[in-house]
Amino acid sequence: MALLRSYVSGSWHTAADEGVPLHDAATGEEVARISSKGVDFAGALEYGRRVGGPALRELTFHQRAALLKALASHLREHREELYALSARTGATLGDSKFDIDGGIGVLFSYASKGKRELPNDTVYVEGNVEPLSRGGTFVAQHIATPLRGVAVQINAFNFPVWGPLEKFAPAFLAGVPSLVKPASSTAYLTARLVELIVESGILPEGSLQFVAGSVGDLLDHVTAQDLVSFTGSASTAQKLRAHPAIIRNAVRFNAEADSLNCSILGPDAVPGTTEFDLFVKQLTTEMTVKAGQKCTAIRRAFVPAALLDDVAAAASARLAKVTVGNPAAEGVRMGALASLEQREEVRRSLKALLDAGSVVFGDPEQVDVVDADAERGAFISPVLLKADPERTEPHEVEAFGPVSTLMPYTSTEQVVDFAARGGGSLAGSVVSADKEFVRDVVLGAAPFHGRLLVLDAEDAKESTGHGSPMPQLVHGGPGRAGGGEEMGGVRGVLHHLQRTAVQGSPAVLSAVTGRWVTGAPRAEGDVHPFRKSLAELRIGDSVTAGPRTVSQSDVDHFAEFTGDTFYAHTDPEAAAANPLFGGIVAHGYLVVSFAAGLFVSPEPGPVLANYGLENLRFLTPVKVGDSLTVTLTAKQITPRIDQEYGEVRWDADVTNAEGESVAKYDVLTLVSKEQP
Ligand code: NAP
Repeated sequence: MALLRSYVSGSWHTAADEGVPLHDAATGEEVARISSKGVDFAGALEYGRRVGGPALRELTFHQRAALLKALASHLREHREELYALSARTGATLGDSKFDIDGGIGVLFSYASKGKRELPNDTVYVEGNVEPLSRGGTFVAQHIATPLRGVAVQINAFNFPVWGPLEKFAPAFLAGVPSLVKPASSTAYLTARLVELIVESGILPEGSLQFVAGSVGDLLDHVTAQDLVSFTGSASTAQKLRAHPAIIRNAVRFNAEADSLNCSILGPDAVPGTTEFDLFVKQLTTEMTVKAGQKCTAIRRAFVPAALLDDVAAAASARLAKVTVGNPAAEGVRMGALASLEQREEVRRSLKALLDAGSVVFGDPEQVDVVDADAERGAFISPVLLKADPERTEPHEVEAFGPVSTLMPYTSTEQVVDFAARGGGSLAGSVVSADKEFVRDVVLGAAPFHGRLLVLDAEDAKESTGHGSPMPQLVHGGPGRAGGGEEMGGVRGVLHHLQRTAVQGSPAVLSAVTGRWVTGAPRAEGDVHPFRKSLAELRIGDSVTAGPRTVSQSDVDHFAEFTGDTFYAHTDPEAAAANPLFGGIVAHGYLVVSFAAGLFVSPEPGPVLANYGLENLRFLTPVKVGDSLTVTLTAKQITPRIDQEYGEVRWDADVTNAEGESVAKYDVLTLVSKEQP
């Protein structure tokens, strides 16, 4: 590998100079060189907006989701190659899997969320229609559409694969092109990842661009339609947040910065309990996975004062078994830091921490290594400290390596206060089986955290652990942690969309959203809508059926048949005393069943199945003698891209003789695309 290339404006760009060398973290050998000299950053942004954006916006959420899935499968086939390159960043195989498999996992997860939770459409409709007038002719609906710019994604060095992919997946699904800029020191791994992606030809051109090296004047050219997502140190975050173009154009800026994450041991978790062992194991694992270069790693371990020595001894015993060395060598549990500069940075931070405490385990300056040169490679020992929690350093200094500080506490209020002194964290753990303690700590610490893991004997086996951000869950934290949020399932997609409140008549909203809205025109033709294939059906197609009068024997029969003999259906005296009913009422499910009997078109046809109801509300009690009419209207039509059928959501409105709605709900059916 020589000079890393950037992929911008549809082609590979080789820098105009020799670049600066990037070194193997374990051997110190040169791996590649990096420079972005000569990249036309304004042109790259323009290319994304002009080529990538329109190509993505032509696709529905489901089509984009399918491409993410194809991409994930493609990358999975190239994992071995990526693992090998990842070892050069100092990562053990386990660390590499965390980064590479984790990143591919995020693609799969967004592919499946896109298919299940987003419409097969280009517009996202959020929430319910808001009635704004008495007559029902003026209503509103929030919609969300993709921003027309580029998502600029600046990543930290510690996750060269996961970092770019966890930002790219939600942007892509949203329909916004990405421009990926990895941290320089490990960019050779991201560069290979991007080569694999580009070579696959799976993504629409312009949807992914890549810059190897510094971003030059890129940020001067961001507009109000672009986004900037940053992961890295708090100081760089602060600088970028204050960039004049970002401020001037109110650019959406998301920061994931460093944080002093904590783990709290409950007073119940004394030596000999499962929770004590879980706490110690998790602490030492978090210190050593990726040599502690995880933004979520536990930096502060709070333990009941009386248990401090026990925890120190148990953690030291575990750390003593950690073999440090060449990540490719047999038996090595912890590799190197990403660079020699990074080791200097960690040693500097350790000095500051040692002003406030003392070493429990490890030596910041010295470590025995296997199959490597301890000085040429960026190796460092795991270092466990203990400190006075009243000092500020342990709550403020992040040593971004295998470093953690033990601190004592004496009450629940105190430990909640200590946790908050981190100034905002990405993740925290509470390890305890005492639910009352857990509740107080979770509710007390929650405003200062993006994610909290409660670990106990019950969930430990299946727990994904303190350090693993999950694509389904929000990743980010307040304050020092950057104040941002990433992933969080569909939330991460919505971040790339503009939410707009559209006001108008029901007919206009139906036209805009492609969903029938109450009050919009209905079409009741000669053909029952259940006889129409998905291709023939239109929103607003409707059938009205009934009336059917509810008799006493219907109610008695339903009670006996189903076993639902609740007094309001069976005991006239007791029902009369019920303040809501004042007499016998029909079962709600009887009403729904009758409605189905009224609107059904029973012969075989394009409707394949009823797969559920949503938003069911019983609005007016139905008495014996009431007659019911149902109106069923096609509300939303969603063809499945990989099946011969799709989903139809029907609006069902059951009314009585006075025209009052007695029940309203959505009926969900599967309908063939073509006539059988
Ligand atoms: P960093 O020095 O702040 O760099 C982060 C990224 O910003 C790199 O891509 C860097 O590029 C770029 N950058 C630096 N200065 C810039 C500027 N003036 N304009 C535009 N881009 C600029 O952080 P790092 O040392 O790579 O990462 C370690 C830190 O990241 C740790 O503190 C860790 O806690 C934090 N982190 C947080 C998360 C999270 O999700 N919250 C995840 C991982 C890491 P170059 O490398 O080319 O300079």
